Amino acid sequence: MAVIDVKVPDIGDFAEVGVIEVLVKPGDTIRVEQSLITVESDKASMEIPSSHAGVVKELKVKLGDKVAEGSVVLTLETAGAAVPAPAAAPAPAVLEPKQAPAQSVPSQAAINSVASSFAGTADMECDVLVLGGGPGGYSAAFRAADLGLKVVIVERYATLGGVCLNVGCIPSKALLHVAAVMDEVSHLSAAGIDFGAPKVNVDTLRGHKEKVVGKLTGGLAAMAKMRKVTTVRGYGAFVGANHVEVEETTGTGQEKTGTKKVIAFKKAIIAAGSQAVRLPFMPDDPRVVDSTGALALQGVPKRMLILGGGIIGLEMGTVYSTLGARLDVVEMMDGLMQGADRDLVKVWQKMNAHRFDNIMLKTKTVGAKVTPEGIEVTFAPAEEGGTAPAPQVYDLVLQAVGRTPNGKKIAAEKAGVAVTDRGFINVDIQMRTNVPHIFAIGDIVGQPMLAHKAVHEAHVAAEVIAGELQGNQELASAAFNARVIPSVAYTDPEVAWVGLTEDQAKAQGIKVKKGLFPWTASGRAIANGRDEGYTKLLFDDSPEAHGHGKILGGGIVGTHAGDMIGEIALAIEMGADAVDIGKTIHPHPTLGESIGMAAEIAHGSCTDVPPQRK
Ligand code: FAD
Repeated sequence: MAVIDVKVPDIGDFAEVGVIEVLVKPGDTIRVEQSLITVESDKASMEIPSSHAGVVKELKVKLGDKVAEGSVVLTLETAGAAVPAPAAAPAPAVLEPKQAPAQSVPSQAAINSVASSFAGTADMECDVLVLGGGPGGYSAAFRAADLGLKVVIVERYATLGGVCLNVGCIPSKALLHVAAVMDEVSHLSAAGIDFGAPKVNVDTLRGHKEKVVGKLTGGLAAMAKMRKVTTVRGYGAFVGANHVEVEETTGTGQEKTGTKKVIAFKKAIIAAGSQAVRLPFMPDDPRVVDSTGALALQGVPKRMLILGGGIIGLEMGTVYSTLGARLDVVEMMDGLMQGADRDLVKVWQKMNAHRFDNIMLKTKTVGAKVTPEGIEVTFAPAEEGGTAPAPQVYDLVLQAVGRTPNGKKIAAEKAGVAVTDRGFINVDIQMRTNVPHIFAIGDIVGQPMLAHKAVHEAHVAAEVIAGELQGNQELASAAFNARVIPSVAYTDPEVAWVGLTEDQAKAQGIKVKKGLFPWTASGRAIANGRDEGYTKLLFDDSPEAHGHGKILGGGIVGTHAGDMIGEIALAIEMGADAVDIGKTIHPHPTLGESIGMAAEIAHGSCTDVPPQRK
């Protein structure tokens, strides 16, 4: 018997994430890879698995705690001799470039022992089968087709585009754009222009959003045709290591017709995405919705509760509030929009205070019931000794407490593909699962659950597959080498960040030089009447950097922050320093100029702000 510390492993960019669920208790017997806690980043939740098997002796974390790589989750009594727990290295602020892994894959015999073999005949054959037609799936399929492969996409819904195009990124931005214009116009009376109070026609607005979605999904269908990618409509599930059975679906949803076909593949890419988490005690009522229900925009409630203070909830709240709803938000952690630096969030919160009646932090939702007046929701403190507000009644409750992967719904075990307790599929940096010819990408492989991450992973998987099938070594060694993945809250103002945050630098003791350019000094922001924002860049200030440290991260709060954050991501990828960025000529007058000026401030050469103290 030995007692060991089980620690948080490398969780990439997500240092200092909050614990939102504790899944085990002292006395529990746990397996290797069993989920111990759930932590929440900026957009959703992720599970932290156990590195060892044994009996839980003591929990070292509780709800609401912040953890990072190396934090001790619990002590575990194991059967083996005591081994020193690995030293807790701080989570890397910027992901280091990685090499394609030396192949360490299970033998075919090992796979055959877990995978079912399919004995029937296939109705179709292809080089690559892509399961799921979201941003990950269609990007993988299109890239594979462009590289000369015969590709089939299996998608249960009528259109390609997945969550992002149909019920995520795009419809939410179509509505956010309308809300932003309404808010902007309402401020113009100060400039002498008055349009009067807006008249909202919800049906027309819904139609507008659907038209935007239709334009993009229609475009995808056309591009699939141009590339000779076959789309098979239906619900796909593995029936063997080289076969997927598709049960045909019809209509606007996923109604099954009973017709089935089997597709044989040489290689597969699992891109089956994720779905919204639904709290088990929430009543089944049209006034309780997830993000898809909120985007359906059936009307504008008087009082709306947002469950979960992450980006998705706050974006939807912005839309409904501008259309006329009063908002409450409840969040287990001690602040909204986790993941972003608190100083950036503060600017957003100040500008948006008028939308909220109650911001309930360190509070959890513990019950809800249907009453004639609305949905009555009960709260409890998230921490021992805390207080919680009295129950409240709402016309609409939006559940935005995270997303859960669809890994357990595709019979992955029949192909021998390992799926974690929570439904994620682990992959290496070539996006390969434990089964060498099956790859996985997008939300189903983990955080951050973002469309731009899915697309990049998709291209890697398609290239590796094409390389292996065609004997092209360069393609076969493709790997997901991104140092950073940007995050954006498309609220008003927008909040965007990438790489190391200032809060992470402080928590991890990383010495940084900050260049912060206030938009009160930006001609363009002042001309736009929106000078509340700022742009912040963080440069390595360790002794080894000798005063020429590379950029490690950056954050922007302000209008169009999301459109600008890509430049900071590029600077990090290229290893730029303050001089590289400051001497890059940015056009004047633009908001983008603020990035160059923030770098000049870090360097000490900015002439658009008062002289800096030496
Ligand atoms: P998905 O988009 O989930 O696609 C998976 C597809 O697989 C789906 O079409 C599904 O129907 C299909 N599928 C699943 N199982 C099967 C099966 N068994 N058979 C057949 N088909 C199957 N991300 C951003 O980057 N920016 C944003 O602004 C943004 N906004 C968002 C707003 C909202 C409201 C939401 C909910 C999400 C948002 N996201 C955003 C996240 C983004 O939508 C996801 O990260 C992205 O869609 C993931 O892509 P994917 O290809 O992995 O999976």
